Amino acid sequence: ILKMSDISLETITKRYTLGAELGRGRFSVVKSATQKSDGGTYAVKVVENSSLSDEENLEALETEVAILRQLQHPHIVALKEVVTTDSDTYIVMELLSGGELFNRIVDLGPFVEATAADLFAQVCCAMEHLHSAQIVHRDIKPENILYTEEGGTSVKVIDFGYAGVWSPEKPLTGLCGTPDYVAPEVLTWYDDEDRGKEYGKGSDVWSMGVLLYVILSGCSPFSADEEEALLAQVAEAKYEFYENEWKSVSEDAKDLIRKMLVVDPEVRLSLEGVMSHPFLAEAVGRCRANL
Ligand code: ADP
Ligand code: MG
Repeated sequence: ILKMSDISLETITKRYTLGAELGRGRFSVVKSATQKSDGGTYAVKVVENSSLSDEENLEALETEVAILRQLQHPHIVALKEVVTTDSDTYIVMELLSGGELFNRIVDLGPFVEATAADLFAQVCCAMEHLHSAQIVHRDIKPENILYTEEGGTSVKVIDFGYAGVWSPEKPLTGLCGTPDYVAPEVLTWYDDEDRGKEYGKGSDVWSMGVLLYVILSGCSPFSADEEEALLAQVAEAKYEFYENEWKSVSEDAKDLIRKMLVVDPEVRLSLEGVMSHPFLAEAVGRCRANL
């Protein structure tokens, strides 16, 4: 008897040789792949359709693909094609072989400010493009930022699995993201899964604020043994710049983080405000010049 998985495997393996596992996520395994026709290398996100049995997950995958299709930017992962079979969905993307920003921070510790600014500016440019298309990422964190090459300095934003399309008529709702990085307004859906605050692009600015804190210190601004305690800190933006990690970091950098990690999204700095802040303006200029 031919199993469903055999059929799908054959369809994809006609064109690609699947290789090593590159990473893993909520519903997916990401593998390297070599295109048989020309030897080109790619990354393929494999999602088992059966893991998407519930309607919501299936819709999320469709949104992820639709959003990826629409985006073309030097600092956003490029989609090549999507192969859907009875059993699996294969999202074929450009291969980013430099690894996760997460691992760079773990391996090398906090970044010096100039390096941090050049890195963060790239994320800002990607997010500016995303937001101008009315898309909110909703899961910005160092695991979802990849270096294009080993030892290189260029990064791209990946993982649009939680991304949503925002409009003034239809702001975003629902709990998304990762506890350490989730914005307070998104967290309101944690307490009541049927009714929280409507939110938008500002939620990404919060996560980017956490990201900048992590890049500059190697530590999370919010941390606790219990998730409940962590989320309570997030809800009130209760964090500190501990002397040990922050004593040699400039006031400019701290000022920017303070203005991003503001509970009220109306008061929080806009992405535009972030990009023109003294800590980042020059790095953003350099990044734009390279686009
Ligand atoms: P999930 O939505 O399940 O979190 P991701 O899209 O974040 O899945 O992919 C999971 C992991 O796979 C990433 O954190 C990364 O390590 C790896 N990965 C994803 N896309 C690529 C890519 N284009 N090139 C190289 N590695 C990738
Ligand atoms: Mg991910």
